[in-house]
Formats: sequence, structure tokens, C-alpha cells
Amino acid sequence: MAELPPLSRDELLRYSRHLVLPDVGVDGQRRIKAARVLLVGAGGLGSPAALYLAAACVGTLGLVDFDVVDISNLQRQVLHGTSGVGRPKLESARARIHDLNPHVNVETHETRLTSDNALDILGAYDIVVDGTDNFATRYLTNDACVLLGKPNVFGSIFRFDGQASVFAMPDGPCYRCLFPTPPPPGQVPSCAEGGVLGVLPGLVGTIQATETLKLILGTGEPLVGRLLLIDALNMRFHTVSVQRDPVCPACGTREITSLIDYDEYCGTSTNTHSATKDVVDLTPSELAQRLTDKEDFALIDVREPYEWQIGRIPGAQLIPLGTLRAAMASLDKTREVVVYCRSGVRSADAARWLRAAGFRALNLTGGILRWSDDVDPSVPKY
Ligand SMILES: [Zn+2]
Repeated sequence: MAELPPLSRDELLRYSRHLVLPDVGVDGQRRIKAARVLLVGAGGLGSPAALYLAAACVGTLGLVDFDVVDISNLQRQVLHGTSGVGRPKLESARARIHDLNPHVNVETHETRLTSDNALDILGAYDIVVDGTDNFATRYLTNDACVLLGKPNVFGSIFRFDGQASVFAMPDGPCYRCLFPTPPPPGQVPSCAEGGVLGVLPGLVGTIQATETLKLILGTGEPLVGRLLLIDALNMRFHTVSVQRDPVCPACGTREITSLIDYDEYCGTSTNTHSATKDVVDLTPSELAQRLTDKEDFALIDVREPYEWQIGRIPGAQLIPLGTLRAAMASLDKTREVVVYCRSGVRSADAARWLRAAGFRALNLTGGILRWSDDVDPSVPKY
């Protein structure tokens, strides 16, 4: 390793609780200062990871994100504040990190991670922290880490459940060993669709920061070959062992020698929310035309009552997805049915169930979010 950087007087004071730790000490702290860590995503998982890694003085923190801070982020993305709403997340993150620790060099990559730029961006760092919220970027991050030989500190969250592991180490499995193929599009709801307890990414992102520091220090037993499962509702932690798969195309047979089109691989190359093949879609503009023409059909909102309170499409009736099967008996099968939800994922399920039950059901593609974009901006987005 190249010469480790010295610690200034201010840094000796700032990190005194590290310096007295036998597993860190002055040399360990200098290793942390020399480290370059990339956070893919400055959202729920990236927030606590960035804050703790900055506080610990990881010398260079890279951040990849292209989003702006939205008020609905603040329930869990503690890197950002109310004053940052509407600003790029990277701008907000840089200001917060510099306030926390001015010794950290923040490198921002305001872009979507793609097959074209991933190797260049990830290649400049020692360790990658995967804080992504979608399968395409997760497979992309994994494959790039395997190709580059960089540790991939993985975390994922949904509702009350979290997962963490360390992938792509020389002696351990990668994400593909565990999940060889992505789930069919639309089958696994996103956190936006399914919800997430705000503190859960705090738990998981902090575990990712812990693993990152252990890798930098070369101390302890990292989560290599183990998947940590967190059940926050019952507060149970389990670890299951994960072996490297000898036929894994990334780290086993190594037949993946370059990055592929991950949107196509994950079935998200078109609109994620209309990718379910057996569902017939209707665009918001087409729905608006049908409403204007006073065509006869039932418009059903399958969201939850609190979402209905936020905004709705005129003429709709509310039948939350969980009650739809029971409510089908009371619906008129001779009328066409248009279903919608927030972004079109839940309603795709609803349309499929209705069609299976003999209804002529159409799914509003993009949900009420796209309705707000394309037809009626007075309907709030959330
Ligand atoms: Zn693998």
C-alpha cells in the first residue's frame, strides 16, 4: 500500500475514540483516511452509510445519484433536510458531509449508473457500497464489482425486512450466486409501492458502513459468504451462509466478460409498470379521452384509503387491492373496467386478477403519477 497519510492535530482530537480502539489505532485511522469508498445511491441506504463513513473520515467518498430531494424522501433519507427539497441530492449530500467532517473529500457523479460508465466510475474506488433501489442497477453494480475485483457491500430493504452481505470478495460469492436471475418485472413491488419503515434503511445502511470500515481495517469477520436477514417487526437477526455458485456467470464461469444491458435483462427497458405481458394497458391520455367521451366503464382505484385522500381521478371508486377479490362478486362483468394505482404495479396485478375472473380489464399505465404528468397536474404526486 502507498504511504499512509498523516493525521493533523485536529484529526487526532476528532478521532480520539478510534485511536484508543485496539483494532483501529493511529495506523487504522490513517488507513481509513487513505480509503476511497463509492456509494451507489444517496438515498435511504446511502444516507446513514455516507454519514457514518464521513464521520469516521473515509478520506474520499464518491456518490452516484441523479435525483433531486423530494419531501417524501425525508422520512428515511437523513442525509438530506427540508431546506434541500428540490435541490440535487448530491448538492445536499455534499453540504451535509462537509458540515459533519470537512476533512472528507466528496466526489460527486451526477448520473445514472449505466453499462457505459460503471467500470470507469467504480474503478476509481477501493470499495463499493450498493444502496440502489432497483434490480437493474443492483445487477450492474454486482457485475462491475466482480469484473473489477472490488468488494460490493450490499444492502436492501423492503417494508420491515432488510438484507446485507459483502459480495465479490476473492473468496466469497457475488449477488448473482444468491439471486441468479431478476424477478419478473412488477412481481416485487418497490419501496414506493410497498412502503418501508423509515428507520429500516438506517439499520441496514449503518451495517453497510460497519462492514466497509472492517474491510478497510482488515479486522473482524466481514459478511462474506453470509447473508444477514433483518426482521425489524419482530426484531430478529439471522445469518444464512451463501456459497459461491460454480456456474455463476459472473464470478464462477466468468462468462460475463463485459457489462450487458441491465434494463433489458431485468425487463425494465420499457416502462417498468407496463412490462407485464398479459395486462392490457391504457395511457392516461386515452383514459382522459374516454372520460370526455362519457364512455361506459368502471374506473377502479386499487390504492389504500390514505392515498385516495391525497388525490384521485374523477369518477373513480376506491377498492383497495386487498379487498378486490372479495369485491369482484359485486362488480358488473358486462362493463369494461379500468384499474389504476400510484404507478401502475399494483393495478397490473388487479387487472390480471380481473381478467382471470372474466372481466374486460385495462390497466392505467404509469398510474396516477403519470395521470398527473400527462393529464391533470392538479392531482398531487407523492
Ligand atoms: Zn457469483
